[in-house]
Amino acid sequence: MRCPKCGSENTNIQVINEQVLKTKHHGVLWWLCVGWWWIFVKWIFLTVPALLAAIFVGKRKKIKNVQKKVCVCQNCGNTW
Ligand SMILES: [Zn+2]
Repeated sequence: MRCPKCGSENTNIQVINEQVLKTKHHGVLWWLCVGWWWIFVKWIFLTVPALLAAIFVGKRKKIKNVQKKVCVCQNCGNTW
């Protein structure tokens, strides 16, 4: 691989594992209408269940491993 920046052939190809968290996001409207009081109610009446729910919801997050190949130039440090 030739470095596109300096033209050097002294390059390494590295495989990088990227972890991507996939979560469902609520829309802005949901937060404006429901989110603020729902969290308020949860924290007052359901503090402990809310914490447990947060842990449970956190475990439901899907972790996706994405393999990325990155070339690193040993000459100028350029990555692409
Ligand atoms: Zn270079």
